Amino acid sequence: MVKPLRHPFRTVVVTGVPGVGKTTVISYLEKMAKEKGIKIKVVNFGTYMLNTALSEGLVKNRDEIRKLPLRKQLGLQERAARRIIEDASNELGDEGYLIIDTHALVKTPAGYWPGLPAHVLDELKPDMIAVIEADPELIAKRQERDVTRFRSDIGGPEGVRKLMEYARAATLASAVRYASTVAFIENPEGAPERAAKELLERILEL
Ligand code: ATP
Ligand code: AMP
Ligand code: MG
Repeated sequence: MVKPLRHPFRTVVVTGVPGVGKTTVISYLEKMAKEKGIKIKVVNFGTYMLNTALSEGLVKNRDEIRKLPLRKQLGLQERAARRIIEDASNELGDEGYLIIDTHALVKTPAGYWPGLPAHVLDELKPDMIAVIEADPELIAKRQERDVTRFRSDIGGPEGVRKLMEYARAATLASAVRYASTVAFIENPEGAPERAAKELLERILEL
């Protein structure tokens, strides 16, 4: 049997190092798309993992997920990808845009770990993998200002710079499997809506 290469809806995977502003940019994107009457569903991959991890008593917050034993993270990752597509298929049917807020590479105590390996891609089948980027020094400052999260394990500006570099490589590797286009989007300081506008323009070309 020939495997379908795409879901009927457009699937956009949004990646970027912790604290770069993915969730912020996506919230503007969602608002802008809705104002234009575009059918859009936004999901956060980490929230799917978190809900399972919380119900199993494995973690207290989302920043603890990447510190779990890797076999546990793998199980959570597998289940999240499957559930996201089930939910999107039910809600979107055969049109619109599924936006997935996630990571191409996760920094774990065991090593750098892919967020978009083959088994995840086989569920998501991304039309696009977007990479939200900014200057590493600015990202480290965003992390520090955001007291709602625990991102010190990323290792400050130098840790951010390294993770960005490796995540770019991981993203390009992930893009190969389903011929996903890769879009690098700058999230300028103080102007996340500009990144959202650029991302919206790009996804309308899919
Ligand atoms: P994570 O991967 O850890 O979930 P994220 O990429 O989703 O991180 P956000 O939570 O969206 O990051 O943003 C991190 C912090 O940076 C937040 O406090 C947010 O308000 C701020 N922020 C986002 N975009 C910008 C921007 N363009 N300029 C300044 N601050 C920003
Ligand atoms: P976030 O709020 O985006 O930081 O997501 C919370 C946590 O979920 C991340 O720090 C990772 O530990 C985990 N996570 C999110 N997406 C993935 C993914 N695709 N693969 C593995 N872990 C992920
Ligand atoms: Mg986020």
